[in-house]
Amino acid sequence: MKKHNFYAGPSIMSQFTIDETAKAVKDFADMGLSILEISHRSKQFQAVMDEAVALFKELLEIPEGYSVLFLGGGASLQFAMVPMNMLVKKAAYLDTGVWASKAIKEAKLFGEVDVVASSKDKNYNYIPRDYTVPSDVDYFHYTSNNTIYGTEIRKDPEVGVRMIADMSSDIFSRPVDISKYDLIYGGAQKNLAPAGVTFVIVKDDALGRTDRVIPTMLNYATHVKKGSMFNTPPVLPIFSALQTLKYYKQLGGIKVLEKMDVDKADVLYNAIDSSKMFVATVPNPEDRSIMNVCFVMKPEYKDLEKDFIDFATERGMMGIKGHRDVGGFRASLYNALPMESVKALVDVMKEFENKH
Ligand SMILES: *Cc1c(COP(=O)(O)O)cnc(C)c1O
Repeated sequence: MKKHNFYAGPSIMSQFTIDETAKAVKDFADMGLSILEISHRSKQFQAVMDEAVALFKELLEIPEGYSVLFLGGGASLQFAMVPMNMLVKKAAYLDTGVWASKAIKEAKLFGEVDVVASSKDKNYNYIPRDYTVPSDVDYFHYTSNNTIYGTEIRKDPEVGVRMIADMSSDIFSRPVDISKYDLIYGGAQKNLAPAGVTFVIVKDDALGRTDRVIPTMLNYATHVKKGSMFNTPPVLPIFSALQTLKYYKQLGGIKVLEKMDVDKADVLYNAIDSSKMFVATVPNPEDRSIMNVCFVMKPEYKDLEKDFIDFATERGMMGIKGHRDVGGFRASLYNALPMESVKALVDVMKEFENKH
């Protein structure tokens, strides 16, 4: 049976990425060796790193004066590295969920943190509006897509100060005006590569403002200077990331990906909104994520939730159980997921609804 992959992360990869990675595990760059067993300082791997950086910059239209890094440690290490490197005195943070609050917790270790707004009062099912960011902060930090709750900020905020964003789960799903940002980061395991690599886009002249002592490995300047080769980088995930970037370019780039993502999300949200049984957990359509669609059973059908998970799983729908903090269901519609899978899920929802 065909499986449809709705896992939230790690999550679906393009077939191209998987095939090319499998080939390189057997024989990398005609070296007669596996990519698992060659030096990261070989000219063949250096070429992979260089092309990955160049394609990343090309696809996102990253202006001059920025570096793209591929590091270890996950987005979670960035929660600490960002304030360690960028927070001089005070920073503003927007609290839109678990990941945002983890970033806030780490920032407080390094300076004053102004949490300008929070949607915690409604279990993070909306994006706060009507907040102001003080003009004297070093940066404003936000999480563009809240993977767990299915909310998303799909337009670069206008807050009057330099911005930093966690784009772990929606990078490459919309154009971003990079020039408004000092730094953007994310774990790769949602829209880019297998787990193990973290991307960082950093404005070179935003570094070096703090006189705090920073350990060498945690200092962005180290990695900028060494081109992500200060120590052994995550070789295989970087190779896979390059394949995904090639695939994105071949599809037509960000605007094409965005259109595909919006279309997929529309199909699923429309099915949920017109159903008698299911309801989206994010009421305001403007706040809804096009990457992670969260929904539950209406109160009168609540006791059928477990049955629906089993019913859908038996029909090849993988990974649709909602996060424990939200319950119900979550269908992640990352870039590599085809429209066909969304339609298959909608069919299964209708079939279940008709049975009850
Ligand atoms: C998955 C995720 C993280 C955590 O990433 P790790 O690489 O596991 O540390 C952080 N932020 C967001 C928005 C995520 O979706």
